Amino acid sequence: MTREMRVLEPADGRVFGFYCCGPTVYGPAHIGNFRTFVLNDVLRRVLEVGGMRTKHVRNITDVDDKTIRDSQVSGMSLADFTGKWTRRFHEDCEALNCLAPHIEPSAVEHIPEQIAMIETLVKNGNAYCSEDGSVYFRIASYEDYGKLARLDQQDLELGKTQGERANADEYEKDSVSDFVLWKGRRPEDGENYWDSPWGEGRPGWHLECSAMSYKYLGESFDLHSGGEDLKFPHHENEIAQSRCACGGDFARAWFHPRFLMVDGEKMSKSLNNLYTLADLERDPGATPMEVRYALIGAHHRKQLNFTFDGLHAAREALSKLTKGQALLAKAAGREGENVPSYRELCGLDDLGVFEPALAALNDDLNTPEGLGQLFRGLRIAETEGDPGVNWLGFHAMLAALGLRLPDPEVPEAPPEVVAAAAKRQIARENKDWEGADILREEIQNLGWAVKDGPDGYELKPL
Ligand code: AMP
Ligand code: ZN
Repeated sequence: MTREMRVLEPADGRVFGFYCCGPTVYGPAHIGNFRTFVLNDVLRRVLEVGGMRTKHVRNITDVDDKTIRDSQVSGMSLADFTGKWTRRFHEDCEALNCLAPHIEPSAVEHIPEQIAMIETLVKNGNAYCSEDGSVYFRIASYEDYGKLARLDQQDLELGKTQGERANADEYEKDSVSDFVLWKGRRPEDGENYWDSPWGEGRPGWHLECSAMSYKYLGESFDLHSGGEDLKFPHHENEIAQSRCACGGDFARAWFHPRFLMVDGEKMSKSLNNLYTLADLERDPGATPMEVRYALIGAHHRKQLNFTFDGLHAAREALSKLTKGQALLAKAAGREGENVPSYRELCGLDDLGVFEPALAALNDDLNTPEGLGQLFRGLRIAETEGDPGVNWLGFHAMLAALGLRLPDPEVPEAPPEVVAAAAKRQIARENKDWEGADILREEIQNLGWAVKDGPDGYELKPL
């Protein structure tokens, strides 16, 4: 809010409560979305590896203009449609080694809480009902409106006085206006409506996060996050709703990582310049861990341009880390031992030569510097520090960054094998058994075997 850096601490002295705006589940999330989710994951991990307890709430947006529109195009019910994309989101998060939030509430499951919040806003004079049974937030009723996004004063005055209203979930800064809390039922919403004191309808998008953050974190909590596009109007509207309905500070700190870009433009569905994890597995055969490494390679305060070269560099870096890990284990006499669990790696007093790496992450979550110091640590570990402490410190750093290294016993599959296996998986999902068999042979001809299990497939050298 103030554009100052803040020390992150739990205000209650016990648990750091934070809310991240989650995905809108109307298709596969693209890796731009995942830059935001992965950086949030690193933030949480750094706090936890530093010994803090966290409570991480991230919602699922399963009712809004886009989910309703696309569920109808697909011919599925809204619940089936959003359920399918929620499962896919979870699979991708797991592949990217993102910790599951402690609470993952969905908008549809919190309609009563959203209605109760609108009732309070109407009662307090912050909201009004329009002719069509919709309810709007009156931005002129909240003095601090526009403070987070630093709205242009002229746009703001116009927005307050012109009496225009935004009924769509998404709109631009120059059309700042009263925004919709409850949308009266319209024919294009089909069967997707609920009863309310203002008639049948459905909640506007911005409301869900206010209602759910209040329920799970209270009227004041430690941090709120989302991509840079969420500052306006989404977070501005959340602040207005929450402050007016619940009192309290709402979020004490904000975290808005900058975008993932492609050729100078934001990666987004509307620009049709997106890549999903599955796209990148098919071509150029990139693993999810390579994608994760690439996504954290730039500072969160800088936009990151996505390139295949970046993925290639990530592959080389991960391979160096894997070799370094083997050397550290050997020096510590820990070869063949299980890596300590995440819990065991949280709250260590001493990371040996990897202390500066964690210090870099603790300083404004500087991931590129943290990675640089990780490699520096590997170099100096050959001559410095206690090998056992260094080995633990290295794994604590991997835990903080959320990097999962391949088992050194099993060599890594080359990109063409990863790509063929990804294509085969899709063929299997489409019940194209013949196509899957041809790809299995192709993989075998490249010297690898593919084994199917309950959690997906595994590649082993023949
Ligand atoms: P959505 O599913 O559209 O609600 O977006 C989920 C999250 O992804 C939000 O926090 C967005 O701000 C974020 N996001 C969308 N596009 C990008 C991008 N190109 N780079 C980084 N974050 C993004
Ligand atoms: Zn939100």
